[in-house]
Amino acid sequence: MKAAALVGPGRIAIIERPDPWPVCDGKVLLAVRMVGICGSDVHYFETGRIGDAQVCYPFVLGHEFAAEVLAVGPGVDQPKVGDIVAVDPAMPCHACDQCNSGRFNTCRNLRFLGCPGQAEGCLCELILMPSECCYRVPRSFSLEQIVLTEPLAIAVHATRLAGLEPGMDIAIPGAGPIGLCCLQVARAIGARCCLVAEPIEQRALAARNHGADWAGSPAELGNAVASLAPGGVHVVLEAAGQQEAIDRGLQVLRPGGVLGIIGIPRTDRIWIDAHKARRQEVRIVNVRRQNLCTQQAIDMIQQGTVEVDFMATHRFSLEQSQDAFELVAGYRHGVIKAMVCI
Ligand SMILES: [Zn+2]
Ligand SMILES: [Zn+2]
Repeated sequence: MKAAALVGPGRIAIIERPDPWPVCDGKVLLAVRMVGICGSDVHYFETGRIGDAQVCYPFVLGHEFAAEVLAVGPGVDQPKVGDIVAVDPAMPCHACDQCNSGRFNTCRNLRFLGCPGQAEGCLCELILMPSECCYRVPRSFSLEQIVLTEPLAIAVHATRLAGLEPGMDIAIPGAGPIGLCCLQVARAIGARCCLVAEPIEQRALAARNHGADWAGSPAELGNAVASLAPGGVHVVLEAAGQQEAIDRGLQVLRPGGVLGIIGIPRTDRIWIDAHKARRQEVRIVNVRRQNLCTQQAIDMIQQGTVEVDFMATHRFSLEQSQDAFELVAGYRHGVIKAMVCI
């Protein structure tokens, strides 16, 4: 089979890989149909690492995808051959203390697709996955919607961890796919006021057109909160991976509020204003991907309580993967989510 592999910093090449076989106990053979390029993939594309997770070249990236079931192994009754599935890219061990307490996202032996040292990704034609990772979706779903269940599940998890409830006000620094998914879920939950800070005008516009009460330049977030959510917001979900976004988020939080950090910083350390956080007893919550939120993400799309299609702005073939990564890395042409069709 063909795979698009990272072969050096900033370089992707099409390589041949053996077809994954046999389809053993509990596994499902999937034909990959569409892959979304994630900001985390771009970190590996540009620098070959996130923190101490270092790529050994060649390495296949990708973890957001839609697929069709080609074959199932012994003992698998769901999904069935021919089903179209959304896939949770996390493969926990089910044996460690984290798994035993239901924290599958922090499994000590986690294998996550496209994560160096764990498992190769889905930017390829065929992939084997545990059946439990595959979620059947309705036939009415577009491939784009299926791919976007993955970032949407992260937003479901983030809002849950942050304790977002109906009637609360929320600020979201960063209107990339994760920030926009957080906006969608916040609206679906019944947040009162949703404010999105984003320096790229096309992304701010997308937020305004899809549920934000205010979306604009990060420098104006403070004024926007002062007029629309006086006293500060209850929840900030930082989805930019920038120190400035954390600082601004903290500034607009009300005492006792929750700062959720989802973005991946380029640096190894982030700074928190100790006095603001301490005096106002701000709760700081780190969000690690998601934990068993895929079905809820699918249900929200099916019920129409969230919109995700508008985020899929660009399409590429597998052979054009290099272009897809460069587009996303450069924030060019108003890209929000680039999809690779296989
Ligand atoms: Zn991702
Ligand atoms: Zn585990």
